[in-house]
Amino acid sequence: MRDLSTLPKAHLHLHFTGAMRPTTLADLAREQGRRLPESLVDADPLRVPADQRGWFRFQRQYDAARAVVRGETAMRRIVREAAEDDAAEGSRRLEIQVDPTSYAPFVGGLTPALEIVLDEARAASRDTGVEVAVVVAASRTRHPLDARTLARLAARYAGEGPGEVVGFGLSNDERRGETSEWAAAFRIARRAGLVGTPHGGELLGPEHVRDVVAHLKPARLGHGVRAAEDQRLLEMVAEAGIALEVCPASNVSLGVYHDVAEVPLLALLDAGAQVALGADDPLLFLSRLTDQYRVAREVHGLDDAALADLARASVRASTASAGTTQRVLTEIDAWLAA
Ligand SMILES: [Zn+2]
Repeated sequence: MRDLSTLPKAHLHLHFTGAMRPTTLADLAREQGRRLPESLVDADPLRVPADQRGWFRFQRQYDAARAVVRGETAMRRIVREAAEDDAAEGSRRLEIQVDPTSYAPFVGGLTPALEIVLDEARAASRDTGVEVAVVVAASRTRHPLDARTLARLAARYAGEGPGEVVGFGLSNDERRGETSEWAAAFRIARRAGLVGTPHGGELLGPEHVRDVVAHLKPARLGHGVRAAEDQRLLEMVAEAGIALEVCPASNVSLGVYHDVAEVPLLALLDAGAQVALGADDPLLFLSRLTDQYRVAREVHGLDDAALADLARASVRASTASAGTTQRVLTEIDAWLAA
């Protein structure tokens, strides 16, 4: 059996704060004399029910972690370590999601907050060999006009390479707000050549996926697993080439499924959907990128050829240049041939 941590792959669903190493979180909290909630520092992955109260528990922990990120040094450290950790797991391309709004007050505004992330992404790419690109994500908890501001900011840094903005997302509780109200922000992003990568179809079902697809015209869906509950919708998503950023550990932690065995990975693949596995928030779910591939192998029974196909899909669904894509696909062939 081949080593999954050396399988070349792309990581398309990882949040900035959620990428933090637990040891880094502890360091930063100590430096600031802050106490962290016990549930955030214990060795148990988060488990909450998939309702509003569960989401609040998740959000409280996330906010507690984010509260220790108060400046440039911490921000650079998170990007750097995310790249190092991805490198150790065979990732060749990381598209990390960040909402600069939370960090802006500590570094003098939205623009410097994003520029710090981009600058460190560029440096970390050079040092680790993982291309680190950035997805700017708006939040459903804020006004849609804020999302437009972020989309305009993201557009100024649009590109495809390391240290550039490649996509525009929408995160936080899927139940918040009217999806159509974010259409304008996604239009601004698309005009700048950014791919739309909103969350959709994790906490809510097929109706939500339909809404997100219709209004936000995504190239990829954050999660999208619940599309499996409606075969026609799933076929439409697959035919439209909308890739699904599937994060099994996240689905279980957030109570969408009781067990990773219930994640409809095979149904998605059978329908021809492009699936890119991701870790989402390893800080809270205590499960990293390679762990998701391990689930696909050990729980869903994928053999190495099928796992290589998954890795290929992750690379094809990324926004990497044609040159990078070809190089990584060749490396995947070599992994499988070994
Ligand atoms: Zn996410």
